[in-house]
Amino acid sequence: MENLLASNAAAGLPAIDVSESQGKLLNLLIRLRSAKRILEFGTLGGYSTLWMARALPEGGKITTLEYSEKHAQVAKENMKEAGVKNKVEILTGPAIETLPILASNENTYDFFFIDADKKNNPAYVKWAIELAEPGACLIVDNVVREGAILNEQVDEEVKGVREMFEMLSNEPRIDSTAIQTVGSKGYDGLLIAVIN
Ligand code: SAM
Repeated sequence: MENLLASNAAAGLPAIDVSESQGKLLNLLIRLRSAKRILEFGTLGGYSTLWMARALPEGGKITTLEYSEKHAQVAKENMKEAGVKNKVEILTGPAIETLPILASNENTYDFFFIDADKKNNPAYVKWAIELAEPGACLIVDNVVREGAILNEQVDEEVKGVREMFEMLSNEPRIDSTAIQTVGSKGYDGLLIAVIN
């Protein structure tokens, strides 16, 4: 894990990965759910990807969507270095364009982690519902944003998170809660949900 973060820093990637404790939480949730097919939105250098890949059983797979060619390339090297490249598929491009391809190939998933451009969170949650196996677990990062979530007028990212919450309150297939967190990455929070 430390090697991966060092390789991200050496490549000039921003240090906006999940915290260590959140990585471990993802790892535990995947094992509790006995998840085998994970879809991640937002790879960066693959720090969260590696936490999740390490929770997968033999034959399990994680597909991770990344907009930036550079981030995807660094993540690819990191997955190779960590010995998990056979479990990880990195798809480059805007997630919103990759998702219909996954759907047309009839891919389904039992665990989702959304951590990309927050303005598209409502669309990503809709896609998660579309691609979910019954009882799939959904985690969305950065849903509190140092309390900025309370303010309607902040920015596109906050707007995306607020719209997502609005959508969830009217979505019968999802049961969810939001947990506030304080840690090495400041004051924020994550959404935990089950998709039925
Ligand atoms: N999950 C990563 C981790 O914890 O190690 C951190 C992901 S970082 C917060 C967000 C990533 O989403 C960035 O690498 C960014 O390039 C990517 N991203 C931004 N917009 C995107 C889009 N439209 N489609 C796919 N990825 C996107």
